[in-house]
Amino acid sequence: MVFSIEKDVVVLGSGAAGLTAALAAALEGVEVGLYEKAEVLGGSSAISGGVPWVPLNHHQDEAGIADSREEALAYLASLSLDRMDPALAEAFVDNGRATVQWLEDVTELRFTLLPRYPDYHPENPGGKPDGGRSLDPGLFSYASLGPWQDRVARSRRSAHLMITDTTLGGGTGFLDEAEMQRRIDNDLRGCGNALVGPIIKALLDLGVEPVVGATATDLLLEDGRVVGVRLTIDGEEHEVRARRGVVLATGGFEWNTDLVSEFLRGPMTAPTSVPTNTGDGLLMAMRAGARLGNMGQAWWVPAVKIPGDVTFGAQRSNLVNRERTLPGSIMVNRAGRRFTNEASNYNALGGSFHQMDPVTFGYANLPAWLLFDERHAQRYGSFGTPAGQPVADWIPRADSLRELAEAVGIDPDGLEATVARWNGFVDSEQDEDFHRGDSAYDRWSGDGNFRFTKASTMGRIDQAPFYAVPVESGTLGTSGGPRIDAHGRVLDTRLLPIPGLFAAGNVAAAPTAMAYGGAGGTLGPILVFGRLAGLSAAAAS
Ligand SMILES: Cc1cc2nc3c(=O)[nH]c(=O)nc-3n(C[C@H](O)[C@H](O)[C@H](O)COP(=O)(O)OP(=O)(O)OC[C@H]3O[C@@H](n4cnc5c(N)ncnc54)[C@H](O)[C@@H]3O)c2cc1C
Repeated sequence: MVFSIEKDVVVLGSGAAGLTAALAAALEGVEVGLYEKAEVLGGSSAISGGVPWVPLNHHQDEAGIADSREEALAYLASLSLDRMDPALAEAFVDNGRATVQWLEDVTELRFTLLPRYPDYHPENPGGKPDGGRSLDPGLFSYASLGPWQDRVARSRRSAHLMITDTTLGGGTGFLDEAEMQRRIDNDLRGCGNALVGPIIKALLDLGVEPVVGATATDLLLEDGRVVGVRLTIDGEEHEVRARRGVVLATGGFEWNTDLVSEFLRGPMTAPTSVPTNTGDGLLMAMRAGARLGNMGQAWWVPAVKIPGDVTFGAQRSNLVNRERTLPGSIMVNRAGRRFTNEASNYNALGGSFHQMDPVTFGYANLPAWLLFDERHAQRYGSFGTPAGQPVADWIPRADSLRELAEAVGIDPDGLEATVARWNGFVDSEQDEDFHRGDSAYDRWSGDGNFRFTKASTMGRIDQAPFYAVPVESGTLGTSGGPRIDAHGRVLDTRLLPIPGLFAAGNVAAAPTAMAYGGAGGTLGPILVFGRLAGLSAAAAS
């Protein structure tokens, strides 16, 4: 085989998984090639909240938070539905603390704890109602990235906000003007940009110059060993040799509608990630003979599409968290019935979209709507419209519940009965149907003025006009793919490592399977396994 480029380790994809793998390998002194399909670096990781969930991280020591290996593993096991490989859960928990420390040692990242952010199932065994496992990456100055300053994917919503400033992290979502100006002047960015920026800087400082506009199309094999990869760079085909190994870090397959319908357990029509995540790594791994795992799963979210909101050339889907959790809103199906605890964490809530109705042989809770009243709209704002402002024109509304139901296609009798029942639950402070507000997580996520009480999430719906926003089954990224071992090696159908092939991140079967432990439940394992895959690839001969 004739190669036009030669490296020791070739990393495909520049999200958190690829960047961490590349940095770990480069620090071992091997020559690393980092290739990214998009014209900008960072993938979904760059537009994410940037929060990793890492049990036993060293910031817990400073805050006096008690955690243990046993608690962390018991907690993950309680969310596993017996689908998690215990060896991978142990590798995550055992390497988490060292990975956070390592990132702070070798990059400018300085995490802080997200104060009191509860785990997503805090009442489960080993869960933490007072938080301590979710980390905020803070702010990072993009001015220090030189020519790469404007070549990282960014979300205009949160570019200059830390996660703690956002409503998700317990803030208001707004900064005072002077502070916002200071951050703009210094190009200080938070959330996902703050997570990936320092790792990119560390790579650049080590002389690893990423290549963007580079799409990997095929793995190159010799005698069953992966020896390189075929890439299209600026329209030209290259065969790149990887002397030690190739790390797949190309994200999930959520933007590939064929793969979505072939593999996912139910409908998914609203990916919130970068549109370049089309399952390329999955297909390459399949052709190389990889065993697949967790294929029906994704990191689920309820999502809303705001007409005209286009990002990276595609209709954007927004995770709906705040509006469904705040008082004065519920979610209903076409029968006008509630079908879930609206305040539960987004990943678990995704399951309710896939509930089958055996009589109609259809999905009982799709389509679905978020219903709220004028008081909710005025007090909290909605979908980008600030509090006190008129609700955006694209949102259907009516002066009565009946008229609204008829206009959007909900059963009117069902809706009236449901709202009356819900208002009764609010008055008695007990959601007898779905237990909204019972968990510490629900009571944390709603209105901060009533934090830790049920009033933070339970409120009557009785002030016209009423609004109904279509909510879709979406994802932050799929979580199935080639199975890996505790060293990040891709396994074949006999569960033996495929020589020269490694994977990390959403391209691979998630080490925690369906478990989404808390805020950062995907990025925590991704950073840990990204590093492990990079170290293993660098050590391969
Ligand atoms: C809005 C939003 C908020 C989120 N917030 C959080 C959070 O706070 N905490 C958390 O834990 N999770 C969060 N998530 C989920 C998290 O961002 C993802 O799980 C994670 O970023 C995936 O990392 P990755 O490295 O596997 O993939 P990505 O970051 O998506 O990177 C994959 C990269 O591979 C590139 N690529 C694809 N195909 C090829 C190819 N053929 N050749 C070369 N490159 C290729 C893609 O262009 C992309 O840049 C959020 C997601 C979204 C969308």
